[in-house]
Amino acid sequence: MMKMWRIVVLVMLLIAGSVAPVAAQGKPGGGGGGNGGGPGSGGTCPTGTADVVLDPGHGDGDPGAVNSEYDLLEKNVNLDIAYQTMAILESHGYIVALTRYGDTALGNSERGAIANACGASVFVEIHLNGSTDPSVNFTSNFYGKKNKDLAFSQTMNGALSSLDIPNNGVGQFANGGLLHADMPSTLVEAVFLTNSGEAELLTDGTGSRQGQIAQAIANGVLAQVVG
Ligand SMILES: [Zn+2]
Repeated sequence: MMKMWRIVVLVMLLIAGSVAPVAAQGKPGGGGGGNGGGPGSGGTCPTGTADVVLDPGHGDGDPGAVNSEYDLLEKNVNLDIAYQTMAILESHGYIVALTRYGDTALGNSERGAIANACGASVFVEIHLNGSTDPSVNFTSNFYGKKNKDLAFSQTMNGALSSLDIPNNGVGQFANGGLLHADMPSTLVEAVFLTNSGEAELLTDGTGSRQGQIAQAIANGVLAQVVG
């Protein structure tokens, strides 16, 4: 009886197209869950299938970390880095999907659902950190579930050492995207966008720091998928 009731409700929700995962996790470096998302963003794979899904953190009304002195919004830099990482991995023959291709809102769980829909081998959430202290700068990684995520997070953290800043290592974080995704997943906090030196590099017009971060993330993915 209960079962039947639940099935009927589920079918009704599916028909209404309103089965939206509840995202309520904050994350390191600020930013809430956000909710909703545009049509087609709810757990469908934009490329049909993908070997790698990259998730540029934040979007739309959720800017993530902000450096107003340098006019930097984390959501925009994350997206730029994701595109560059995608290009590197595609040059190695991998099919890569992004969870967002523009400045759009996505719930955290929805991001993991997209990785599942793609049948991806790895899922990487791309973030930059923030602090009120402009001298703070280090790289760090987070895993959701130890069994599926810890080893990949350690591999990725090792690859990020190429950024040549202090490395705070790997920690656990109950992020909806990491928890929802079925495959090895990691959240990258590559550098502090609020750090003056990083902000100088990120706004020097060459895109070279963004490229270094993208290369480091790509190297971490390749170390995982190639072995
Ligand atoms: Zn972030």
